[in-house]
Amino acid sequence: MSFIEPDIDFINHLKRDCGSALTTCMQCGSCTAVCDLSPLNNPFPRKEMIWASWGLKEKLLGDPDIWLCHQCGDCSATCPRDIRPGDVMASLRNYCYQHYARPRFLGKIMQKPTFLPLIIGFPVMVISVILILAGTFKIPDGPVIYSKFFPHGLLNISFALLLLISFSGFVIGLKQYWKNLKHSTTEVKHKETLLPGFFSVLLEILTHKNFRICTTNRYRFLAHFMIFWSFTLLLVVTFFAILATLFFEYPMGFWNPVKILGNISGLFLLIGCSIMIWQRIFNSEQRSNSNYSDWLFIISLFLLTISGIIVEIARFQNWSYAYHLYFIHLVLVWMVILYIPYTKFAHFIYRAIAMTYSKYLGRI
Ligand code: SF4
Ligand code: SF4
Repeated sequence: MSFIEPDIDFINHLKRDCGSALTTCMQCGSCTAVCDLSPLNNPFPRKEMIWASWGLKEKLLGDPDIWLCHQCGDCSATCPRDIRPGDVMASLRNYCYQHYARPRFLGKIMQKPTFLPLIIGFPVMVISVILILAGTFKIPDGPVIYSKFFPHGLLNISFALLLLISFSGFVIGLKQYWKNLKHSTTEVKHKETLLPGFFSVLLEILTHKNFRICTTNRYRFLAHFMIFWSFTLLLVVTFFAILATLFFEYPMGFWNPVKILGNISGLFLLIGCSIMIWQRIFNSEQRSNSNYSDWLFIISLFLLTISGIIVEIARFQNWSYAYHLYFIHLVLVWMVILYIPYTKFAHFIYRAIAMTYSKYLGRI
């Protein structure tokens, strides 16, 4: 005989987070019937709904299916009890990456608006200390040259360290997640499908194929697609910019191809973020399932993009407060990158892993 031990705190957290009645699910299965992404064998989200309302936290934390959902909202529009299963799935995903993120307290801090000053204050303090130690924490004379304020060598080293810190926390959490996936699923694994499965998932992510299947909320595809590609291209541009500081001339001229790619990507990132913010404010589907951490991430990314554009204009125009704007921009860069494992950004990696694992099991 086995006993169910409901985690009441977990149930209450989900209810609070997604605003769903949750426990009133009558297991009619309409949500599963309308979901175009659910596999035929052991489909979702009906089973997740009963696990969630029973508070089976561990089972859900090792369930790859919560990541196969792309939050189209079709099931929420169909649920006769108005429980919004699509939102419950989104809350489960948020809970999942916060649970696995290391150090875990940072995941909790990112969920509470009261800690916002700390979240902003930490990069402000670190950047200030670096500049004080470098002896450049003052407004330089003459035309605007940002390297007089933050020398390129220091910028490159701090950026590399930042990525290293962020990804170390990420990798530890992901390893634990993979272990739990293996522990929680009983299906036969097909080892030979792991690598081909990974490449097919990569292709699906690059093309956003599953987002395009959604019918209720089509704009999510457009916003996601733009943000994903423009951010990826900006990372490539940043890599070339670092190389330029080491081996070529920097800053690049306005008509340099890398600069042009950077400017176009920045513009698309701005448009993608704007669509997403617009959706979260004016689309009732999106508005209801946007929580604080979603807002924190998208607003930080939006401000990062705007500040990047303004900082570039300030340099060309030699604005007197260009260095102040540059400082704000650097703080936003740190915020977005350092907190990747604890924000919506983590979705991208967890989803890729869960999808690869599902291919491995032959579920999708
Ligand atoms: S449609 Fe609603 S009531 Fe029916 S199983 Fe899904 S969540 Fe439960
Ligand atoms: S939100 Fe869309 S993808 Fe997710 S479970 Fe519901 S119908 Fe399926």
